[in-house]
Amino acid sequence: MKKDQVLDQRHRPLRDLRISVTDRCNFRCTYCMPKEIFGDDYQFLPKDHLLTFEEIVELTKIFVELGVKKIKLTGGEPLLRKDVYKLIAMLSKIEGIHDIGLTTNGVYLKKYGSKLYEAGLRRLNISLDAIDDDTFRRLNGRDVSAKTVLANIDYAVSIGFSVKVNMVVQKGVNDHQILPMTEYFKNKRIPLRFIEFMDVGNTNGWNMKDVLIKKDIVKMISSVYSIEPIDENYFGEVAKRYRHQDTGSEIGFITSVSEPFCSSCTRARISSDGKLYTCLYAHEGFDLRDFIRSGKSPEEIKMAIERVWQTRKDQYSVERTENKGMLNKNKIEMSYIGG
Ligand code: SAM
Repeated sequence: MKKDQVLDQRHRPLRDLRISVTDRCNFRCTYCMPKEIFGDDYQFLPKDHLLTFEEIVELTKIFVELGVKKIKLTGGEPLLRKDVYKLIAMLSKIEGIHDIGLTTNGVYLKKYGSKLYEAGLRRLNISLDAIDDDTFRRLNGRDVSAKTVLANIDYAVSIGFSVKVNMVVQKGVNDHQILPMTEYFKNKRIPLRFIEFMDVGNTNGWNMKDVLIKKDIVKMISSVYSIEPIDENYFGEVAKRYRHQDTGSEIGFITSVSEPFCSSCTRARISSDGKLYTCLYAHEGFDLRDFIRSGKSPEEIKMAIERVWQTRKDQYSVERTENKGMLNKNKIEMSYIGG
């Protein structure tokens, strides 16, 4: 198959693929999988609904043909997927992929970190919303100590991973952790990224008044530290990056709410049951699993993906901003599509 450049209706190329490998998580973060909804009787996807590793690899190869260069594995919690390191090993062999990353809450890194590294994974995004233990235990809904994640971050760095830490900021919930987190990760020379609380899904009770936007976080950090903006690394880079002037260590902002970046969005997403989405805020996906399992050829699957991308017009965050608030849509959940 020939390598194509496929563009959507807003001239955005397809470059990145986020693959969710499970809809399950060991955390019940209040803003993502609140306990009240994701309780003991919640029906997660049955095993045979999940894409197999072979199916994921087959699809990924087709996406690479269409221009994808970066892969990120996500979930749910991707380390809950049995033997996910084997998938990494399979994906690492695909020619044309420049970068594979994985996003995790870090709890199982002691257990699986070295296997993931041996399989070829080099980049981890580790989610951590507080270093204060009480705050973190409350937020993750499972009473897990921040010390566990901090120790696992150290472990991941010690075995060679390049690590970034992601903190979702909610006003009045964990904004008092912005400065302690900044200090801690500045000293560790680990890039810290602040994510604006987003109105993904329908279950987290999102309200604009709970969002602390980049401008306010920068102001708070600048009152203590000297930081300066850094130029974009490449087209479509999601984080707006800054650096500490003294140590050079980096902080970044994911400004989905205050400064939407839809115009340079090059990401496609596949849910763990094989639905293709072109936006985190989508409400409908294209069933690739059905295509694969009904015996369609790689060429037919490629044409279907190409069609989905070429007809893509979405720019939810821009429309939310124009609308001055959440758009009333039946959106899919973050834990299902993967962050
Ligand atoms: N379990 C993995 C993890 O913790 O990184 C991967 C999945 S998780 C859904 C991916 C990221 O999305 C996490 O950093 C999480 O904090 C973030 N996230 C979830 N809901 C969010 C929301 N409403 N707004 C902003 N970020 C959110």
